[in-house]
Amino acid sequence: MTPVSGAGRATVHLAPWVVPIAAAPIRDGAVVLDNRGVVTAVGRATHLRTLGEVREHQAVLLPGLVNAHAHLELSHLAGRVPGGDGLAAWIRRLLALRDSEPELNNLSQVIDSARAAALAMAARGTVAVADVTNGGQVAGLLLEAGLDVLVLDERIAPRGLPAPSRPGAIPTAHATYTCGVPSLRALAAAAGGRLASIHVEEDPAEAAYLLEGRGPLADLLDERNARPEGTPCGLRPVAWLDALQLIGPGTLLVHLTCADDASLALAARLGATAVLCPRSNLHISDRLPPVARIRAAGLRVALGTDSLASSPSLDVLGEVATLAKAGADPAWLLNAATLDGAHALGFRHLGALQPGLRPGLLALGINERSLENPVAFIAHEGASAPATRLA
Ligand SMILES: [Zn+2]
Repeated sequence: MTPVSGAGRATVHLAPWVVPIAAAPIRDGAVVLDNRGVVTAVGRATHLRTLGEVREHQAVLLPGLVNAHAHLELSHLAGRVPGGDGLAAWIRRLLALRDSEPELNNLSQVIDSARAAALAMAARGTVAVADVTNGGQVAGLLLEAGLDVLVLDERIAPRGLPAPSRPGAIPTAHATYTCGVPSLRALAAAAGGRLASIHVEEDPAEAAYLLEGRGPLADLLDERNARPEGTPCGLRPVAWLDALQLIGPGTLLVHLTCADDASLALAARLGATAVLCPRSNLHISDRLPPVARIRAAGLRVALGTDSLASSPSLDVLGEVATLAKAGADPAWLLNAATLDGAHALGFRHLGALQPGLRPGLLALGINERSLENPVAFIAHEGASAPATRLA
């Protein structure tokens, strides 16, 4: 590729494989960065090694990762909320844990755990995150760790209007079973006319509640006297949100694990993005999102980790590995973990090793110089490979 001009002294990173994402993998490749981390050239090492100070890596190089759905503020609950029997049971356990151990709500503990989680994300190559927050105390920690952050101020408001969001944050709804119609409308209006993000079809109990007003989530809502205004509505979640005209291009539909084909087709037609969090789905309900049907529907897909209360790490390569093991296409998964995730969050400077972008640079260590398929390596083994942030 043709070098473009950059500021200051350049660094030429050489490696047996470079995976630019937006172009085919390059054997014996090079990535040239200026001193701000902007890519000035990507190509064969033999063509580019004279363009700056050379650093050689026994690694596969790729752009920084994008986590399109996390709840950093739940990091102190890592490993504390067992799952396996569905969303309503998991939520009930989460609420019971908070009630039984009030010290868990201690702010310094919440912040210490969140800071450690943010630094761990950065260290393993995550460069951007859509972070869902109710308390609002931890978003600054992601910025301190050097990440680009979309702060989503999540509201749970079954009746009446939601509390206003904080300056700099984007208001958003938790789910159709926790926000009433006035609340959903207000949150969409405050975000420019459409919901920025919402948990949708994470569990079969959501559709059962909206369609017929019964099932495990209906029982949970009744226990708490918290049925949202306007529900049940006789529609599945995506159709309901569309009937209210609250979703469209830019909306992050988180999970879609139990969505039927009509819901997926509708979401695709509306230009929404599916954000898949497969390890969280496995933990909570022992199921995976229907990747083949989602892909066939033509939906743009990003990957998220959900929180440490339902997932073992905040590294999207863990999500990639889980779906790759289940048979999903490694190249398609890496695209979701980088470029499509970046675009879904509106970070156009991220996602690919391409001149003019400032995508971060991640090195995943390899033992074998003769590695045949770097994309499959990243997809299946990247989450456990030694990781070094080069930019
Ligand atoms: Zn979530």
